[in-house]
Amino acid sequence: YTVIAFGVSITSQVITCGQVLTFSDIENVMNREYIKDKKRIVVKIGSSSLQHPETGDLDYIKLEILVRELCNLRNQGKDVVLVTSGAIAQGKKTLKLKEEDINDENRIAMKQACAAIGQARLMMTYERIFSEYNPISAQILITKNTFLDEVNRYNAHNTFSQLFKMGVIPVVNENDTVATYELELDNDTLSAIVAAMIDADLLILLSDIDGLYTDDPRKNPDAEFIEIVEELNESYMEMGKGSTGS
Ligand code: GLU
Repeated sequence: YTVIAFGVSITSQVITCGQVLTFSDIENVMNREYIKDKKRIVVKIGSSSLQHPETGDLDYIKLEILVRELCNLRNQGKDVVLVTSGAIAQGKKTLKLKEEDINDENRIAMKQACAAIGQARLMMTYERIFSEYNPISAQILITKNTFLDEVNRYNAHNTFSQLFKMGVIPVVNENDTVATYELELDNDTLSAIVAAMIDADLLILLSDIDGLYTDDPRKNPDAEFIEIVEELNESYMEMGKGSTGS
């Protein structure tokens, strides 16, 4: 499948040839030629693209634009999946947690509790916006086992297929609440695995960084912007960093 990254803070496993665009391009891209022949599209958005950097509260304008575009794709007869982060961030926000509330002993349990609280709230917000445009959305929470176990994978695949048949838009996140190692699987990777599992022909990654840089531009002022990745080679692979919470 093709990958379009709107700003890239993606892991090296996921980077592939494609054009690098910013979040503000989303409406243009959704109307471009190359969307036309795509039937099944996965869109991934990260926590910090969903929230205002000043407060950590949700950016309803961005959410609204995103959901509207997804609904518009679905109305063109395409199958659409949204992979969204933000559960842990929203949970923290809801509980008004401070840094000192988290320590080495409770770190994992806290994250999982935050995910449990935040996922429900995040989904409630998505549901509310989706319902304005009418499509039905559904929640699918995935763990590593969903892909590793053959029966689980088969079932998940069937669930997606059935939802597509019914015109429903699945909203996917990792099931952060159930196992420690799940927290290590970032949603860039998750979205790529989901795209492969459901035979998607386009994966769109939305990020808070305005493109692909030779290094992390927030840490390295000399990082250079790369507009188009023509061919995937070693030097691009080395630019891939771990997830940045995009
Ligand atoms: N699943 C996590 C969350 O919803 C985020 C993981 C990631 O962004 O890579 O908070």
